[in-house]
Amino acid sequence: MIIEACAVGPFVMNAYLVGSEASGDAVLIDAGDEIDRLLALAKKKKLSIKAILSTHGHIDHVAGAAECRRKTGARHWLHRLDVPWLENLGQQAAMFGLAAPEPGVVDEHPEEGKLLSVSDLSFKVLHVPGHTQGHVAYVLGDQAWVGDCLFAGSIGRTDLPGGDTEQLLTSIRTKLLPLGDEVVAWPGHGPRTTMGRERRTNPFVGEE
Ligand SMILES: [Zn+2]
Ligand SMILES: [Zn+2]
Repeated sequence: MIIEACAVGPFVMNAYLVGSEASGDAVLIDAGDEIDRLLALAKKKKLSIKAILSTHGHIDHVAGAAECRRKTGARHWLHRLDVPWLENLGQQAAMFGLAAPEPGVVDEHPEEGKLLSVSDLSFKVLHVPGHTQGHVAYVLGDQAWVGDCLFAGSIGRTDLPGGDTEQLLTSIRTKLLPLGDEVVAWPGHGPRTTMGRERRTNPFVGEE
């Protein structure tokens, strides 16, 4: 498996290119910005992007999804509860003084427990609300893409519309940490971590 992390855009959001050496097929997790740079990276790795998996609908995570979909023909996945965020992309952009991105289009809705297969890559979907109501994590083997739910030493903010701190803590404690200590967590911002490290030392959900 090929995993390439790429921090993009004004929010320094981690986009992840996840591909299979065997098939040459890949997904792009959170097509937030700098699509041409991400497409060049895919080309360099000889990967073809078949799906765009959005963890949630905040602008830093989905602003480039429509452009990537248009340029690659990849299908866009976003949980139905976060579609309103995508529909308000123009408003989200205005809030930050940014130009309005291309309007987003959703092809499929990931749901809790659903297996999302792209060629020989199969992701398990976990619904982890709290940062937004439609936030999901994508799990492939012992790798988990957790968006703005869990960060190394921190958790996602819950002061935006649809945010709920208790719900977020429950999502992390009941869905993410039980994946196992060895499972690698790839967050939407900042460095990667493991569930074990967060279970022990995270000041919000850890044991210490
Ligand atoms: Zn967010
Ligand atoms: Zn974010």
